Amino acid sequence: MRYYSVYIEKTNDFYTYASDDENIKVGDRVLVSFRNKERVGLILKEELEKDYPFKVLKIKRVLYEEISFSKNFVALLLWIKEYYLSSFDQVFSTAVPSGVKIKYEDVYRVVKVDSLFALNEVFEYFLSKIKVRKKTLVDRFGKEKFSLFVEKGYLKNIDGWYCLDEDSDCSEEELKNYFELRKEVGKQTLEKKFDKKVLDKMVKNGELIFERRIKSFDDENLKKTYKMQDLIEDTKLNLEQQKIKDAIEESNKKHFLIRGVTGSGKTEIYIHLIKRALEKGNGSIFLVPEISLTPQMVLRFKKEFGERVAILHSRLTQNDRAKEWYSIYTGEKQVVLGVRSAIFAPVKNLEYIVIDEEHENSYKQDSNPRYNAKYVGIKRAELENAKVILGSATPSIESYYYAQKGIFQLYEIENRYKDAKLPEIDIVDMKKEEDNFFSEKLLLEMRNALLKKEQIILLLNRKGYSTLIQCEECGHMEECEHCSIKLNYYSSNGSLKCNYCGISKRFTGHCSKCGSDKLSFSGRGVERVEEELRKKFPVNIIRVDGEVAKEKDFYENMYNDFLAGKYDIMIGTQMISRGLHFPNVTVVGVINADTIMSIPDFRSGERTYQMITQVAGRAGRGDKDGKVIIQTYQPENYIIEKIQENSYKNFYEKEIEKREILFYPPFSKVINIGISSEKEEGLEEYCYEVLKAIQDEKIEIYGPMKSLVYKVKGRYRCNIFIKGDRKSINDYKKSLEEKIKKIESKNYRIVVDVDPINLI
Ligand code: ADP
Ligand code: ZN
Ligand code: ZN
Repeated sequence: MRYYSVYIEKTNDFYTYASDDENIKVGDRVLVSFRNKERVGLILKEELEKDYPFKVLKIKRVLYEEISFSKNFVALLLWIKEYYLSSFDQVFSTAVPSGVKIKYEDVYRVVKVDSLFALNEVFEYFLSKIKVRKKTLVDRFGKEKFSLFVEKGYLKNIDGWYCLDEDSDCSEEELKNYFELRKEVGKQTLEKKFDKKVLDKMVKNGELIFERRIKSFDDENLKKTYKMQDLIEDTKLNLEQQKIKDAIEESNKKHFLIRGVTGSGKTEIYIHLIKRALEKGNGSIFLVPEISLTPQMVLRFKKEFGERVAILHSRLTQNDRAKEWYSIYTGEKQVVLGVRSAIFAPVKNLEYIVIDEEHENSYKQDSNPRYNAKYVGIKRAELENAKVILGSATPSIESYYYAQKGIFQLYEIENRYKDAKLPEIDIVDMKKEEDNFFSEKLLLEMRNALLKKEQIILLLNRKGYSTLIQCEECGHMEECEHCSIKLNYYSSNGSLKCNYCGISKRFTGHCSKCGSDKLSFSGRGVERVEEELRKKFPVNIIRVDGEVAKEKDFYENMYNDFLAGKYDIMIGTQMISRGLHFPNVTVVGVINADTIMSIPDFRSGERTYQMITQVAGRAGRGDKDGKVIIQTYQPENYIIEKIQENSYKNFYEKEIEKREILFYPPFSKVINIGISSEKEEGLEEYCYEVLKAIQDEKIEIYGPMKSLVYKVKGRYRCNIFIKGDRKSINDYKKSLEEKIKKIESKNYRIVVDVDPINLI
């Protein structure tokens, strides 16, 4: 007899079951009895323990007809559970689309139908008919059966026509009759029609069987055969690209970082590698941040890989997601282009995991399980003997540090493809400007570009029209009812909106306290700047932000229209800083470089550097040289200085020095514990209790302190930060879950975030 640790969906613990079936493997789905019901379990591991203080139930059977998972996949999920201190159920739900999960169907079935089976025929016959003549029925069933039908009352005669008579009375006899026409009936339907007591009695007498059926993956519409297409001919790599591609193929290392300036042709390298792998029958996963999954990226992959590529973005329906998943599972699709959760795609013979724009925050999930697809990718590659390639023009400080230490193999490309020049960068001190929207310098460059029929991209990383509305009469500022944050005003749809909880209300034009209409708007958002822009330039302008991007196909249309020259200027939030390739854009303006810099987080400098360097990279991608104007109130800030030097390395040197002195990642590891409650009262005391419970001398603990936005969605929030060296944190984590479990209280929510990317 062997013992297995089994996971059952929607439960939080693992359960032990036994079996003497020699063939059971980790990752198999098995039928077990759980709380007196049949459930499907997933084998996680074999237990070494043989003695249990309770009766261990036996596994009923292995469900060979069900989807099973590889042992590596199970190992990966278990690793995530341990590393991010999350529940296995949450990990499993995230990793496996609900469309392929097991569903149950409870049905009642009669045991004996005997000679009356014939009645089934009449029922089925009437499924497609409403009324039939006697003669037709007699011809079909014979006189004897026909009489029986009438006598039993299944058929009734209306003006010489016969039709089915539906019963509605509820007695045992009725029920038997009801079942004479049906083989089995769903639980809900039957319990609605008949008395549950009658049903129970019949089940007890053995006349009726109540059974749970597994309704699984035989949904025909999920299965589709894809035709294999030949791969198209390659683009030719230049020497530098070729060298990197060959080196990665030949290397016996597993982790690579390519830092190549924007437009250096990194994507081409990845595509070549994936193609070579595919020719050997090996698959790859290509991860992009949501926003980079642009139509052009999708088109590029479809062109290269045809029906062999599965595209997994967050807007897929459950059914489409399941279809894609299944086609990867069967091996029909071997290349996956997708966002964060595509890291779990069941790709066969995985050779490459490419993580494009590896510095992006969106690889980290900000709800449980709080995993980072980048590190999950590294772990998965380790388990499956695949290679991980991280790529970025502005790698995260952590990744570049690991590359410096030789943990990642580093390749760098300093020049753009075909030697397109990197744009020149000018910094403008806004303190010295009269107009606080557009500097003289930016206006001049914009005019020049427009005269030459070239295009312009302007970045302002702030949504809405204004972030603060204040009444000039009574001083009242409009604030969210559920959050301790001021409401943003959106002129585009006349609403006031909270950026934290998303609640919005109509803007009346009057102070909500005293009714005055003397309101002042400050905190300029992208809509406000658009308004100013339109006053200055009578040209075609398109605004791109979260509001407009909600419209279906907006992004795709915007991309095509802008490329075709229908617009002269694009103004947008951070969403325009990435991935877009418009050869005719020569001027990029950053309206206010300070928005992120002023956030009190040790990564805000890095983020500012990345965002501005990325948007600057949109300029001069074609034959024409580009120009970038950065407006700031803090020109002396070292981040701005490094942006202008346009040397990632200089920026890195400065930043890593700071991280070392302050003992921040990558030198340390951080855990953030968020504690929240609907009531403010008692929260602080509770936080101190938590603090006491999780204290440990090997690590540094800070807090508790209020979150930067104290109240969100009606909950008051505090944080405790934990910092320590890698080993201490790893040791500490092992006992943290236990400690927290002990002090859990239903009035408070505790969220543990391992390797957080937002500290506020
Ligand atoms: P990155 O991913 O580094 O920002 P891309 O791969 O998007 O850069 O390349 C920038 C531009 O150069 C794209 O338009 C791409 O098609 C072109 N390009 C890069 N390498 C090649 C090549 N070997 N042959 C043809 N065009 C290339
Ligand atoms: Zn007022
Ligand atoms: Zn709110």
